Amino acid sequence: MKPPRFAYHDPRSLDEALALLAEHGDDGKALAGGQSLVPLLNFRLAQPEHLIDLNRIGALAGITRRAGRLHIGTMTRQSTLEHSALVRDGWPLLTEALTYVAHAQIRNRGTVGGSVAHADPAAELPVAFNALDARFRVASRRGERTVAAADFFVTHLTTALEADEALVEIEVPPTPAGTGHAFTEYARRHGDFALGGAAALVTVDESGTCTRAALALLAAGPTPARAPEAERALVGAGVDAQAATEAAARATAEIHPTGDIHGSGEYRRDLVEVMVRRAIELANERAVSTREAGRSANGASGG
Ligand SMILES: Cc1cc2nc3c(=O)[nH]c(=O)nc-3n(C[C@H](O)[C@H](O)[C@H](O)COP(=O)(O)OP(=O)(O)OC[C@H]3O[C@@H](n4cnc5c(N)ncnc54)[C@H](O)[C@@H]3O)c2cc1C
Repeated sequence: MKPPRFAYHDPRSLDEALALLAEHGDDGKALAGGQSLVPLLNFRLAQPEHLIDLNRIGALAGITRRAGRLHIGTMTRQSTLEHSALVRDGWPLLTEALTYVAHAQIRNRGTVGGSVAHADPAAELPVAFNALDARFRVASRRGERTVAAADFFVTHLTTALEADEALVEIEVPPTPAGTGHAFTEYARRHGDFALGGAAALVTVDESGTCTRAALALLAAGPTPARAPEAERALVGAGVDAQAATEAAARATAEIHPTGDIHGSGEYRRDLVEVMVRRAIELANERAVSTREAGRSANGASGG
């Protein structure tokens, strides 16, 4: 299929892009990597009259750490994020999540901001950003605002972005010392959209007691939801197999994934529960080994 006719705009600065979005946002769309938008155009599922291409705005791409926080420009390619040593060292949940996103060719072209703005509930990055308490910086000619991940994803393929707004940056806070991460998912073939999955961050103190947990669910509903009750239930004791199993059951008690040709709603619910349990167990294992490694290093330097 060929896309419908549209006017193509090629702004060279964010100001120019925002002016175009202010003028055409109601019947136009930003174009980032095109890996979701172009198929939608070709299938005529989206028919914008104007496309505002963000690819020539160099200032929108880049990864930096400022005051301990990670800043990712919206046009940063997914593969750049995947291979960033800064991200791997400080925010390894993002690196792990990216290994499940599509295929290398798509990650080379697809952008971090495009994945967030597209808001597919089976997309990995929104889930990881939600678990990490990320904030999204959004701009329009009316000004700038910052939206917490918890408020950004409204429903399937719908975000808090207004028609004249562009997502410009994603800001991720640091995780506390003693934190382990895990991203788990199941897809029929590697690179396919997930049938279910989860992101987990577990923080433990020196004695192995869980002091903080963050859980976010993949492909479990219309948005990448957190599981606050299950998170609270993990805090205050060591995370053993029973605690992980109970927290996973609690996290998925209220979810109602939609069934399709790949699996019934019931199958998907059970799958997400297993993925959450495995994510909690792996994140906890990694948190405990981080603490043990810290103790051995201190012991070695003390001796
Ligand atoms: C075969 C295939 C398999 C895939 N598998 C996966 C997968 O397993 N997991 C996964 O997460 N993704 C997958 N994807 C999608 C891929 O990750 C896309 O790159 C991503 O969803 C969209 O990013 P993009 O930069 O290509 O955005 P585009 O396709 O250019 O845009 C997507 C949407 O976001 C809007 N948008 C983009 N940038 C901005 C911005 N800065 N401000 C406001 N609005 C903006 C656009 O207007 C559009 O509505 C797959 C894609 C393909 C083709």
